[in-house]
Amino acid sequence: MKNYFNYLINILFPERCLICGKEINVLTEYRYALCKDCHDLLEEIKEPRCTKCSIPLVKGVEKCTRCKTSSYTFISNFSLYNYHDWRVKELIYMYKFRVKKKLSYFFAEKLAEVINSRYRNLPVIPVPAEGKSVRRRGFDHIGLIADRLEKYYGMEIRHLLRKKIHTKEQKGLNFEERIGNLKGSIKINSKELLRLTKCEKKQVVLLDDIFTTGATAEECSKVLKKNGMQSIYIVTIAID
Ligand SMILES: [Zn+2]
Ligand SMILES: [Zn+2]
Repeated sequence: MKNYFNYLINILFPERCLICGKEINVLTEYRYALCKDCHDLLEEIKEPRCTKCSIPLVKGVEKCTRCKTSSYTFISNFSLYNYHDWRVKELIYMYKFRVKKKLSYFFAEKLAEVINSRYRNLPVIPVPAEGKSVRRRGFDHIGLIADRLEKYYGMEIRHLLRKKIHTKEQKGLNFEERIGNLKGSIKINSKELLRLTKCEKKQVVLLDDIFTTGATAEECSKVLKKNGMQSIYIVTIAID
């Protein structure tokens, strides 16, 4: 009977793994649209990692060369995965560009673990999406993860930032060029700022998908700092 039920569920709701394409047994190995094998093969970045930007390092080194010489406004970035892992790249691509919204549950679960263990009870600020890219993709990919964090993990989500000006594609630009490109493009949402409740210490978590040069995180942090926030912690799915 159980086998028949299992069979029926899989016929009625067929699911394929977004990474390897294998058919998934929905009842026994479903991991937010990933098969158990692919899920278990996703490797989170382990220590040692750069204390500032999260990039994996060799033992005994505290900061990467880039972080030794640059001064960021934010305290640190913490990334779950390495973007150079092809499975991670594929997942983010599937989520952002193939609109596999189911993955928002997966990312939210993983990000919630990080936020709850390192930055418990801090308000979470999603990096704002540009209206144009939301229209093109049909959804705000960071905003959707933030919604899940609010609904299923009880986090305080505050959309404190707004992307006001259209900026050029960041791809291929270095940190300085990216900073120049983003300058003035992020604005504060004053109404949301007033609603910020759990923030006596002025500490917030800024949420984004990929940490590349840190330019987006830096521009957002500057705006947050100008508006009274003192400590900004970045949390991202992956570091490039
Ligand atoms: Zn798979
Ligand atoms: Zn670093």
